[in-house]
This record gives sequence, C-alpha cells and structure tokens, in this order.
Amino acid sequence: MNNTMNLYSRLPKVDQILEDKRIENLYNIAPREIIADSTRAVIAELRDSISNKQIALEELDRQIYFITDTIEKKVRKAIEPKLKKVINCTGVVIHTNLGRSLISKEIMEHMTEISSSYNNLEFDLETGVRGSRYSHLEDIIKKITGAEAALVVNNNAAAVVLALSSLAKSKEVIVSRGELVEIGGSFRIPEVMEQSGAKLVDVGTTNKTHLKDYESSINENTAAFLKVHTSNYRILGFTASVSLEELVNLGEQYHIPVIEDLGSGVLVDLRKYGLQYEPTVQDSVNAGVDVITFSGDKLLGGPQAGIIIGKKKYIDVMKRHPLNRALRIDKFTIAALESTLRLYIEEDIAINKIPTLKMLTATQEELNKKAEKLLSKINQEKSKELTTEIVDDYSQVGGGSMPLEQLPTKCIMIYSDKISVSSLEKGLRSFSTPIVTRIFKDRLYIDLRTVDEKEFDTVAEGIKFASSNNLKECY
Ligand SMILES: *Cc1c(COP(=O)(O)O)cnc(C)c1O
Repeated sequence: MNNTMNLYSRLPKVDQILEDKRIENLYNIAPREIIADSTRAVIAELRDSISNKQIALEELDRQIYFITDTIEKKVRKAIEPKLKKVINCTGVVIHTNLGRSLISKEIMEHMTEISSSYNNLEFDLETGVRGSRYSHLEDIIKKITGAEAALVVNNNAAAVVLALSSLAKSKEVIVSRGELVEIGGSFRIPEVMEQSGAKLVDVGTTNKTHLKDYESSINENTAAFLKVHTSNYRILGFTASVSLEELVNLGEQYHIPVIEDLGSGVLVDLRKYGLQYEPTVQDSVNAGVDVITFSGDKLLGGPQAGIIIGKKKYIDVMKRHPLNRALRIDKFTIAALESTLRLYIEEDIAINKIPTLKMLTATQEELNKKAEKLLSKINQEKSKELTTEIVDDYSQVGGGSMPLEQLPTKCIMIYSDKISVSSLEKGLRSFSTPIVTRIFKDRLYIDLRTVDEKEFDTVAEGIKFASSNNLKECY
C-alpha cells in the first residue's frame, strides 16, 4: 500500500507537463484543449497501471521519462481525420465498406476548382437568370443512354423512393416475388416500397414468375410494374422470369408504366473485356422501359448518386415532386458525375480513365507485372520470419454486381511460422495508412487488382511494421 502511494506521488502534474519544452511544438498543430485532454488521459492510464498491475518502479520511471512522446502520439491521433485513406488489398473493386468507386485525380482537380470558387450551379450564363442545377447533367446522360429525360438524386435508394412516390403513391405496384430482394446496407424492396407510400402487390413465386401472374393482378388501382435487378444474388435451376420486353408490352397494353431498379447501371457491355453479361442501361432504354434508376458509384464508376432516366412525362413529375428537393445532389456530385459521364463518349477512354473500369478490365499480364514489382519491394523490407509468394486467385466485382463473376487475378500470399496471420492482418489495419487485406486458410492475401502502384511503398512499409516487434506498441 505504502509502496503504491509512493508510485502515485511520482506522477507529474498536468500543468507541469503543459509547460514542458518538449511539447511546445504541439501547440502549433493542436488546440491547447486537446493537448490538455491527451495529457490527462496519459496520466490517468499510468494511474490505472499503478492500481491494476502494480507497475514496477523502473518501468514507471521509464514511462514518465517518455511521457511527452506518448502525449504527442495521442494528440496526433486525436487531430487526425476519422475518415481517411486506406489501401484496398481485398481485390473487391466496388467495395461498399471502403467507399465504392474511386474518382480519378483529374476529376478531383476539377472538383477542387468548382468547390473552392463560385460556380454556375443554378445560374444560366446565357440569359443571366436563375438556372437549374440539373441542366448540367441532363444532356450528357441523354446522349449516353439514349433516354428522353434524366434526373439525378442522392443515391439509387432515393431514386427508387422518388420514382415510386411520384408515380404510385397510395396505388398498387406489381413486383415479382423473385425480386423482393435486400441489397446490402438495409435497402429492402418491401420496405422501400412502404416508405414511398406505394402498395406492394407481389406476384408469382420465388423461382418462377410468368407474364400471366402480372396480368391477372392488374386492377384500376395498379400504378406501375416494378422490375428489380437482383444484383447480389441469383436464383439458379428451375426458374422463369418475365423479360423486360414482355413486361413493357403488357404495360403498353394496359397503360401502366414499367419502372426498373437496375442497381449498378453499367454503361458499357463488359463482355468485350472478358466479364460476364450485366444488363446495360442502354439495353433497358432500348427495351422501352418507362423509368430506369441506377447508382452513380457502382459499375458506372462515378460519385454516390441515383440516376433516373426515362420518358419525359414521368421524369417531369419527379422533377416537380417535393421529395426531389430533399434528395437533391450538391455541386461536388454534379462536378464529379458530369466529368465521369463525359469520359463515356468514347468507350476506350472510359475503360482507361475510370478507375473502377480500369481495375475490372486489368489483364493478367498487367497484374503479374504489378505482383512482381510489389513482391520485390516487400522482400527488401520484410522480416525474415515471413514467407511471400505470388499466387493465382480470384477478385470480385463487389457493390452487389455480378455476384458469380470470378475475375482471375494475381495475389501476394504471405504467411509465417512465427507471426500469426491474424496479428499481421490487424497490424496492417492499424498502420498509419490502414491496409485492408484478406485472410484465407491461414494465409494473408494482397490482391494486386485494387492496389495502385503508387501505394506499393506504403504496403511494403506496412508489412515491415506489422511483422516487427513493434506490434504490441500499436495497441
Ligand atoms: C445497390 C442497389 C441499390 C441501392 O443503391 P444505392 O446507390 O446504394 O442507394 C438499389 N437497388 C439495387 C438493385 C442495387 O443493386
């Protein structure tokens, strides 16, 4: 007891530390408040270790001696943005948890200019009077998709709610039971439908829905047919669904619009690049679908947005709907989406300049070159305890797109007898630039598809960090 009391008395006072020359520099990077909070926290931790662990005198003195370093680390952590860059080594290209599609540096430069200066967001430069923020996007969307009209809102979930609310509030909407899906992040068709005020009429069965199922449910309250792209899952085997063309024909016959939630919104046919068929936006327009909604940040490769295209008479109703004001996009989204869409005017340019498409269409040769380059950097830095090897594996598209697609890729596989793979994974995740990797059967994988060459040095440093004895210190 006495001994413990002695230890407590060795702890420095907060005010004393705040005057210490060694933390003077911190006042240039952080408010006094944060430095004081961090100091109190570090002292409280020492106090805890005295009361819990009966810390030895020498160890306590050592920690007190280095206390300003510990405080500096805490202060730096406290002022660091919570949302920060990570390196995606998972090979999942459209990784919803890691921010989905990347915006290229070139487009970011344009966004910087737009957002750090005034702009013509709602100003018509020709007439000098108020303009519409949507005008910047509508023509380019129409040009690329062939649709009559277009509108952009916050995300695809919002697009579906706005479409249903505008066209079918308090009325019935017929949907196949096989399409009552849940897309990641709590987007569930029945719940979205309820939010919009439309009444869900589900027809057919989980695996089979026929045209007659839709037809026999039509009544005077039917406001729309809804077709949902079952993005993230597939029903295989004994199945039947109604094609877009058949549904459009039925709709024309009864004057009922067809709304399609297309999910990913791919604008180029990716079969040319060896991927499986994913219905394109243009296919739906050509099939005569009345209203089509899709995401901006999935296969399109742009910013978060929900794009609504289709017949002008329906889009006009949505433009005037009060919900549209609540779901509207800001200047950042407009700038990024317009610039991304412009790249689609020439398909080759889109494939090469839109990061999502570039990663998805990377060739085995490119991936192998990257793997060799990264491997040599890792091997220069890494501890001897680690074994590294280039292996064949598969990447995923992600974002609920093409769930069955297996993209052949190259990975660097890492393992060790001395260091557990899970502590390596944790160490990488807690690196100054967090590195997110994949574990499979007690091996760590770094998939080259989603790692940029500019990130190779950081990955190599991260591996050195995670495998070094410092591991304990980072917790
Ligand atoms: C992803 C997806 C959504 C949700 O889109 P967000 O842009 O994330 O709001 C809705 N429907 C389908 C079919 C999807 O794949």
